[in-house]
Amino acid sequence: MAKETILVIEDERDIIEIIEYNFAREGFTVLSATNGEKGLEIARAKRPSVVVLDLMLPGLDGIEVAKRLRQDPATREIAIVMLTAKSEESDVILGLGVGADDYVTKPFKMKELLARVKAVLRRGPLHDEGPTGKRLELDGLVIDKAKYQVFVGGKEIPLTLTEFKILALLAGAPGRVYTRELLLQKIQGETFVDERNIDVHIRSIRKKLGEENEYIVTVRGVGYRFKE
Ligand code: CA
Repeated sequence: MAKETILVIEDERDIIEIIEYNFAREGFTVLSATNGEKGLEIARAKRPSVVVLDLMLPGLDGIEVAKRLRQDPATREIAIVMLTAKSEESDVILGLGVGADDYVTKPFKMKELLARVKAVLRRGPLHDEGPTGKRLELDGLVIDKAKYQVFVGGKEIPLTLTEFKILALLAGAPGRVYTRELLLQKIQGETFVDERNIDVHIRSIRKKLGEENEYIVTVRGVGYRFKE
C-alpha cells in the first residue's frame, strides 16, 4: 500500500503527539499544524490524503478551515475528519455541512480515529458518489442503479424515484454521514423535497426494506448513514 499522508490540525500538542505516534505505527506519514492558517498552508503544499481537523482552534476555527479547504481547487479533494469537543450536534452538522467527510467526538479512542480515517480513505473524495459499480449486492439487499431496482431477498420492492435516490446515495458511501441538508442537495434537481420530508422518505424506505432496514442508520440530530 502506498504510504498515505495525514495532516493533523490541532492546537493541543499532546493530542498531535499521540496521533502522530499511532498513525506512524500504522504506516502513515503524519504532518501537523497547531493553527488553521499554518494547516491550510501545509495542506496546499503537501496535499495529504486526509486532514484530521480540530473544530476549536485559535484564529481560524475548524469550520472556516474546512470551508477554505473545499473552496481551493488544490485542496478540494482532501478528505476531512473533524474532531469535535463534545457531541455538539450543531457543530457536527455545521462541519458536515461545509464538507467534512466524517467526525469523531472528543475524547476519542485512537482506534476509532484510525478506523474513521481508513474508512474515509476507502471511500475516496467527497464528490465521488461511491462505488462505480452499477449493482450493489449486500446480504439480502441488491440495489441495481442502472435499472433503478431494489431487491430484498430476491424480491423486487417498489420504491419511488426519490426513495431510490436516497437509498442509492447512502448505500454508495457506507459509513458516511449525510445530513438532511446534504441529502436534499444531492437528490434535488429532478425531485422537489424539503428537509423535513427526508425523514418521511427514510421511514417509507425502511418500511419497504423490511428485514433489511437496519442498513439505514439514524445519526441522532444529524442525519443518516448506511451501515458499514
Ligand atoms: Ca482545540
